[in-house]
Amino acid sequence: MEREVDVLVIGAGPTGSTAAKYAARGGADVLLVEKRSEIGTPVRCGEGVAKRWLDEIGLTPSGEFICHEVEGARVIAPDGTALIVDETRAGNECGYVLERDLFDRYLAKEAAKAGAEILIKTSAVGLLRDDGQIIGARCEHMAETFEVRAKVVIGADGFESQVGRWAGLETHLRTRDIDACLQYTMVGVAGDPRYNDVYLGSCAPGGYAWVFWKQTDVANVGIGVNLSRIKDRAEAKRYLDALISRTPTLAKGEIIEEVAGAVSVSMPLEKTVAPGLILAGDAARLIDPLTGGGILNGCLSGNTTSSRSV
Ligand SMILES: Cc1cc2nc3c(=O)[nH]c(=O)nc-3n(C[C@H](O)[C@H](O)[C@H](O)COP(=O)(O)OP(=O)(O)OC[C@H]3O[C@@H](n4cnc5c(N)ncnc54)[C@H](O)[C@@H]3O)c2cc1C
Repeated sequence: MEREVDVLVIGAGPTGSTAAKYAARGGADVLLVEKRSEIGTPVRCGEGVAKRWLDEIGLTPSGEFICHEVEGARVIAPDGTALIVDETRAGNECGYVLERDLFDRYLAKEAAKAGAEILIKTSAVGLLRDDGQIIGARCEHMAETFEVRAKVVIGADGFESQVGRWAGLETHLRTRDIDACLQYTMVGVAGDPRYNDVYLGSCAPGGYAWVFWKQTDVANVGIGVNLSRIKDRAEAKRYLDALISRTPTLAKGEIIEEVAGAVSVSMPLEKTVAPGLILAGDAARLIDPLTGGGILNGCLSGNTTSSRSV
């Protein structure tokens, strides 16, 4: 099987689905490939986003993907002093808490409605080149390999992006450019669900810990710790467990899910394009290095990237 399209988007996270949606809306013939068997799962995210960013990417808030709304963030210092910051000052970590799996699927649905074709269980495994120009990608679906030729390839394959590397772009991250993250979804926790909590200081060296509320007694409780400040990733767990056990409102909760991941805390890549290829979202290191939030930057870059490609 060989395919020919205008735009091939690799990765159906928020970035890729947004890129596919806007490229299809712009009249391009778009193929979006996603290696997972289900878009949106597993979720590796605190699920916090700001309201104003949703406006900026043209999404109407919907119960289809929002599970909780907060008034702002409570920033907690090591001595317990708390500062409440409202949404205009709290960066992109507050406003709504999403059901991230539903959000990603919502965006994919939008892409499909705009006319993009989506292939799940399909991995890009290499790029096609002609005289230095990237002209598509080799893809694999159920052990079958096929070529997709495209006028433009958009690499939206996330933090662990291979597409950028295949294209010869400098995507390498130093240890200090990475925060290792660990998050529990906890039930039976207590607190004030009007505010997402952000713990700063020695409890999370080079990062922060968070409590993002999903319901009045359910929250994503997580931590990001700079890799250069710990001996191994297991140390992130020790920091998170220590914070939970000394915080009575959290200590009484039960963990129903645990996810690990990482975010870049670097500047964006200096170069995000190669002939025939554009990187976007986490693949272009567009995560906000202060908050670790990348969903909405990803959507924004997906939108701009597709405008450049159409
Ligand atoms: C623990 C944790 C908590 C976080 N909390 C927040 C938060 O609260 N708020 C926030 O804004 N951000 C948060 N982030 C960051 C956020 O999750 C990312 O910035 C966001 O997912 C970026 O979207 P993306 O589409 O660029 O990449 P991804 O969401 O990673 O999507 C990339 C997609 O590409 C697919 N893919 C990869 N390689 C291939 C391939 N070769 N072929 C086909 N498909 C491929 C992947 O399966 C994936 O579906 C958090 C991250 C972590 C790790």
